[in-house]
Amino acid sequence: MRPRKGIHLEDIIESLRRYEPEADVECLLKAYAFASKAHGGQVRLSGQAYMSHPMEVALILTTFKMPPEVLTTALLHDTVEDTETTVTEIEANFGKEVAHMVEGLTKIAKIKFRSREERQAENVRKMILALSEDIRIVVIKLADRLHNMRTLEYLMPERQKAISEETLDIYAPIANRLGIFWLRRELEDLSFKYVHPVEYGKLIKLTKEYKEEAESLIHLICKRVKEGLLKERIAAEVSGRTKGLYAIYTKMVDQNLDFDQIYDIIGIRVMTKSVVGCYGALGIVHSLWKPIHGKLKDYIALPKENMYQSLHTTVLMNTGQRVEFQLRTQQMHIVSEEGFAAHWHYKEGGSPPVDDNKSLFWVRRLIDLGKDLDNSEEFLENVKVDLFPDEVYVFTPQQEVKAFPRGATPIDFAYAVHTEIGDHCVGALVNSKEVRLDYILENGDVVEAITVDTQQPNKDWLKIAKTSHARSKIISNIRTRERADAVRLGQEIIEAELLKYSFPPEKYFTVPALEEAAKAFGCKTSDILLQRVGFQRIPLHSLLQRLLPAKEFKSLEAAKKRPLKSIMRRLSWRRPKESVGVRVSAGDNMLINLAICCNPIPGDGIAGYASGEKGLVIHCRSCPTLKDMEPNLEKFVDAQWEENGKKRLYHASIMVHSRNRPWILANISTAIAHCKANIYDAVVSPTDNRSGRLKLTVEVENLPHLKKMLDAVKKVDGVKSAVRLMEKVTVKE
Ligand code: MN
Repeated sequence: MRPRKGIHLEDIIESLRRYEPEADVECLLKAYAFASKAHGGQVRLSGQAYMSHPMEVALILTTFKMPPEVLTTALLHDTVEDTETTVTEIEANFGKEVAHMVEGLTKIAKIKFRSREERQAENVRKMILALSEDIRIVVIKLADRLHNMRTLEYLMPERQKAISEETLDIYAPIANRLGIFWLRRELEDLSFKYVHPVEYGKLIKLTKEYKEEAESLIHLICKRVKEGLLKERIAAEVSGRTKGLYAIYTKMVDQNLDFDQIYDIIGIRVMTKSVVGCYGALGIVHSLWKPIHGKLKDYIALPKENMYQSLHTTVLMNTGQRVEFQLRTQQMHIVSEEGFAAHWHYKEGGSPPVDDNKSLFWVRRLIDLGKDLDNSEEFLENVKVDLFPDEVYVFTPQQEVKAFPRGATPIDFAYAVHTEIGDHCVGALVNSKEVRLDYILENGDVVEAITVDTQQPNKDWLKIAKTSHARSKIISNIRTRERADAVRLGQEIIEAELLKYSFPPEKYFTVPALEEAAKAFGCKTSDILLQRVGFQRIPLHSLLQRLLPAKEFKSLEAAKKRPLKSIMRRLSWRRPKESVGVRVSAGDNMLINLAICCNPIPGDGIAGYASGEKGLVIHCRSCPTLKDMEPNLEKFVDAQWEENGKKRLYHASIMVHSRNRPWILANISTAIAHCKANIYDAVVSPTDNRSGRLKLTVEVENLPHLKKMLDAVKKVDGVKSAVRLMEKVTVKE
């Protein structure tokens, strides 16, 4: 189908009627009138009216035996892109189906490619297919491109080259994929002329004489093979082809060959009914012409990895030409067509995902269905397919195409752009609208990640991220942070322990001492040692033994026993050494002690209870234990805090609920220390792996002091609650 001067709508209708005699052409007439009006006085660079282009495209589509609505769409295909027309208007006039196809074509026209590499990316081709959501859109796009290529001579040289490169990179491979080999070849050869004009000129010269010769040679070879097959009663189809100019050129470049070294310019295919027939046909070919040594490949006995089966042989003609034969059964032919991905791989040097196989074979079958149109209804039902159900294609704001597994989210996108972007991602702008991190990306979305410096990945992200790339980055970020936190925590734990027993850290906790200890524990670096202390994999006790000289360690061990003694002291009221700071009405001579069940502190309402064994025990008035005491009023004694008593510290129990973070203990103890309170003892009990419960005995001056301290603890990141307990904290040694 060559472009002719003055195409008419009648040409299209006539061509359509040849395969669909009853076709309703009403919509074609309407579309013609609509598009003519829209394009108005627009003129192509060829000097022809703009309408000649959509009409030629429609005419090309009649060679695919496309139904009327596809031809209608072809007539309208540039209206939204190049005129004031909107998709809504198209829908109002021509219905949803046509409008959808025009919209798809407009979307494809908007894809921009920043670089040659990007265009060549497999993703772009897939994106175009996926964006179409409808195989008819792809076919219209290919016809559009074919006509533009056929009329490229009217454009400026730079545009010619750019459009041709795009055709080679994107559209020829798509045609190949869809199995429309003649279209691929024509697109390639037309582009070749503009992309490599010098090489094209040389090859044209080389093949000029050769071409006519080749055609008659193919005819002759096919005739002789058929005669031979007939004689041997082998049922087979024989066909021949010459290699396209661009295919010859790429082979010469890729394999560094001269033109006369390209042996497969002529290719003959023999398709038999049976395997035995294949070998029989091979015998006939070899009896007719001399096979070239080393060129016979038996992929029937030894199939290729991708299941491809065929006999390949190259024979020498009497004229000295070499001709390649492929012999296979019809069954093998189907398999070879099904193994399209392998074909793609071989021809394009790319590596497509294995899943492509099925969908592409399917596409091919659709095209074939469309060609025959015996079953046009079924064809139309099947054209709207998700070509890549496992993948989704989106744009960066720079119109770069990125592919993701279905179900991917802005987190996957952000990590695909850059790890830094991923780590700080809080959401995304999708088609200029703000979405959350768990938004599911859709084909054609324009996505931009929103980042905030303080954002950090957390474990919940692993539930949202679909790509292994994003997941591994999230895990590594969390691990790195945990390790850093563990190092910090290890350091804090060691320092706190040394300080607790008055060993100045600057003296004992030095770099050389630490490095020495790291070696002793088999840690490569002192950071690893601190990390392991932080993760509590190395007991503090053993580490301090390494860090401190023997004498100091001994005294630390001794000091450790002291808190226990003080507990003992508190428990044995008979030997009180210091005033508890309480006045009682009963008199000053009484042995007074503070209850260890509720730990009263100045500011609490208190009451004394006379116990025969323990003397007078001071409880909080709200103490549950006190309420449970036998209701013997004689035993209750009024008590008040001494107003100008000697300052001392009182024990109070508190309970802290927090998220489970490695450094949370350190943060809580720092907060308490800042309030000038001490931790006397602590019991940590994780409730689950997400949160923990911490019971602390702290030393404070009075109730306001305790309140101030509780407020400070509540402010620690990760702390959910901090309350005073009216109960005894189990004291562990
Ligand atoms: Mn166009």
